[in-house]
Amino acid sequence: MENEKYQVLLYYNYVDIEDPETFAKEHLRFCKDLELKGRILVAHEGINGTVSGTVEATNKYMEAMHNDPRFADMIFKVDEAEGHAFKKMHVRPRPELVTLRLEEDIDPREITGEYLDPKEFYEALQDEDTVVLDARNDYEYDLGHFRGAIRPDIETFRELPEWVEENKELLEGKKVVTYCTGGIRCEKFSGWLKKSGFEDVAQLHGGIVTYGKDPEVQGELWDGQLYVFDERISVPVNRKEHVIVGKDYFDGKPCERYVNCANPECNKQILCSEENEHKYMRGCTPECRVHPRNMYVKEHNLTEEEIQARLERIAEEDGITQEA
Ligand SMILES: [Zn+2]
Repeated sequence: MENEKYQVLLYYNYVDIEDPETFAKEHLRFCKDLELKGRILVAHEGINGTVSGTVEATNKYMEAMHNDPRFADMIFKVDEAEGHAFKKMHVRPRPELVTLRLEEDIDPREITGEYLDPKEFYEALQDEDTVVLDARNDYEYDLGHFRGAIRPDIETFRELPEWVEENKELLEGKKVVTYCTGGIRCEKFSGWLKKSGFEDVAQLHGGIVTYGKDPEVQGELWDGQLYVFDERISVPVNRKEHVIVGKDYFDGKPCERYVNCANPECNKQILCSEENEHKYMRGCTPECRVHPRNMYVKEHNLTEEEIQARLERIAEEDGITQEA
């Protein structure tokens, strides 16, 4: 049993689900019976999930879903794994699968951008008259992104329409191509762009995950790692070369290691080397370092003297760097 292989499935489908509440309850039972773990969102507009389980269980799940006419043509992106990528199994009913905070919501089945396969997207990346927009959050972009893609300065997907309104001149007269992790966000976002008057709009079909698995492009022109919303945190994309674009929060050195600030009330995600995690007690600010509930201090049983010693070291070393 120890060497049993696991798989992680990533999938979505915009399709009518009449009663998301009941669907979610029944689906949770079904997933638990298969001993899957993960997170699934269910809405009137469809389903979006990431689950992990043994190869046998995940294959059974895909087969059962494909036998339901609503999900008959749903595409599963499958990653091999050493074990589960989640601790628990959740199926949650939601008003929407992805939130753009629009007055009038977008139905991607009615309006969405042209679908580009990995090869077409690879060509678009090198086309001068094309603007490639990253439709993800800033912390996802910071770990890895397509070479030359624009990083909208936003913290959540909801802020994207406002950002576009304020940066129209970047996009006007160009072909606009969007991409995200698995494609679900772009279905809505590219539809919204079209509805907002941009004529030539396309999206990477199947997202970065599909691009990385494509036998021809092999993830080329992707730099860094792909941020994923499970315990793996990051996965590789570019199989031809690995360029690190992530930068350590504290010293700016190349870094691809995400940690959460040790102050549970802050919990900010920062890229941080192991060395700097110890040096700064995993606190993103001086306040977070000395917060009474600092988790790093607890995990390492630091005494008051040890904490003081670290703070003095930070003051000494960083004081010098700042003057230099
Ligand atoms: Zn913090």
